[in-house]
Amino acid sequence: MSNDSVLELRNVSLEFPGRRDFFGTSHSVRAVDQVSLVVKKGDILGLVGESGSGKSTLAKIMLGLLKPDSGEVFLSGLEPHKMTRKQVAEQVSFIFQDPYSSLNPRHTIGYTVSYPLYLKGGGSSNERKERAREMLQVVGLPSRFFDAYPNQMSGGQRQRAAIARALISDPKLLICDEPTSALDVSVQSQVLNLLLKLRKDFELTLILISHNLGVIQHMSTRVAVMYLGKIVESDLSESIFKHPRHPYTQLLLKSTLSVDPGAGIPDLQTDTTAREAMREHPSFLS
Ligand code: ADP
Ligand code: MG
Repeated sequence: MSNDSVLELRNVSLEFPGRRDFFGTSHSVRAVDQVSLVVKKGDILGLVGESGSGKSTLAKIMLGLLKPDSGEVFLSGLEPHKMTRKQVAEQVSFIFQDPYSSLNPRHTIGYTVSYPLYLKGGGSSNERKERAREMLQVVGLPSRFFDAYPNQMSGGQRQRAAIARALISDPKLLICDEPTSALDVSVQSQVLNLLLKLRKDFELTLILISHNLGVIQHMSTRVAVMYLGKIVESDLSESIFKHPRHPYTQLLLKSTLSVDPGAGIPDLQTDTTAREAMREHPSFLS
């Protein structure tokens, strides 16, 4: 693997065993199918695809939370599922759609944000608290939130706290899985722009997962399009949006733009046009 690649996937696949139906037949789901991908230092990779295409499963494989059935994953040259939790945490952090999943409702924000430093080891309790207070400032949260609980905060504030927690250990790579999908539209762009700013300040490499093409276009330097577990196309962002080569990507762009050219690019989860068109033309993927 080359020196500047932060993450590399080679032919990664993962199948979930299906539940048995009434007749005893089990329908397994190939959630990730032969995915190869290289993410280089400083990239903002936008991973886009409709709901159920395998994006979150792929993210969990990248984080070592799921072990692929076949293929290889390298995080700065090491395989995440063979690394300790601490080793993975030094390389990569994540935030999810629902900040509740990274913020324990029973712990104060100060405790939760400083916890990765405790896990990392070194430094006194006071130093950890001090650094957590600094991180709250970095993500634009007033210091009074240090002693607050997640249920005392808005969705946007909770996502800022989750970002503070993700970055306190100074990871190289941040994986954001639908980071703004649960937020009000007015708050979404604030959180996205915060991520862009922090990416510079922390010299981060970002993987941004979204079903929203507008978010991907606004944020990404590179784009990978996922459909039924496969990456069907990946390229520089401007190439994908100007000259999409794969029929599925073309269909996504066309169907979303044909809804209302003035309204920007809408959401794949609410826009079923592409999905319906794919059902009529299953040969697109062959
Ligand atoms: P996305 O994040 O793109 O919406 P997911 O990775 O969550 O997609 O899901 C991909 C596919 O794998 C879907 O068909 C989903 O139903 C299935 N799947 C995801 N997680 C599990 C699981 N733990 N057990 C069984 N099937 C799963
Ligand atoms: Mg998902």
